Amino acid sequence: MALDLLDLRDFAILLDVDGTILDIAETPHEVYVPETLLQTLARVRKRAGGALALVSGRPLGNIDLLFAPLRLPAIGGHGAELRPDPEGNSFEQRATFLDRELKRRLMDIATRFKGVGVEDKGYSVALHYRLALEHGLDVVDAVFRVCKEFPPESFELLTGKAVIEVKTVGFDKGTAVRELMTYPPFTGRAPIFIGDDTTDEAAFAVVPEFEGLAISVGRKVPGVDGRFQSPSDVRQWLERISQDAVVPS
Ligand SMILES: [Mg+2]
Repeated sequence: MALDLLDLRDFAILLDVDGTILDIAETPHEVYVPETLLQTLARVRKRAGGALALVSGRPLGNIDLLFAPLRLPAIGGHGAELRPDPEGNSFEQRATFLDRELKRRLMDIATRFKGVGVEDKGYSVALHYRLALEHGLDVVDAVFRVCKEFPPESFELLTGKAVIEVKTVGFDKGTAVRELMTYPPFTGRAPIFIGDDTTDEAAFAVVPEFEGLAISVGRKVPGVDGRFQSPSDVRQWLERISQDAVVPS
């Protein structure tokens, strides 16, 4: 793949986390972060002059815990939180909080179905049903019913792999990537965004503005520039580009 021959000095590497560089686990806190991945990410970041960022639906604090001791530039909460410099400030109050009553009603849904996990991120509530796939349709249906009772302009629904999330409006991975690209060392580089889920499509749509590349994982997404089969393939690619430049023969 020509992706192996990139001169990383020209690019910014933007990586979704779950289902992209990490295998999806039964619950979000059960994911496994290989030690070798931490080393690889550190090397890629160095080779790319610091222009490597994680772009996740997870809150920044959660990303940092997962990848500790590595601390990376990151976008958290689907774009609600932005930290261009891992040693600098994060902008964590970018998003407003979700309506309290809406939040309460959503969290209530989780209590009605065994095995459904709820995650309150402040600006969003996510209901995870990987451990209760048989209730998936009912959970999604219940979320839609609750949401119908609230002003539609006040929230957005995100559906993912065995998860449905309700968040406040005004940000997504696309708007956050656009903003990240205004900060050094990202500015002036072409972003390569790799993601596996529907929420990554907002970022796929933005990278052409910066002459970047959109790469999907697993799913076939119309209009993207390439596809990896699995997170393991993405990890192997990262490992290759973290090594000395490949010289084409
Ligand atoms: Mg993902």
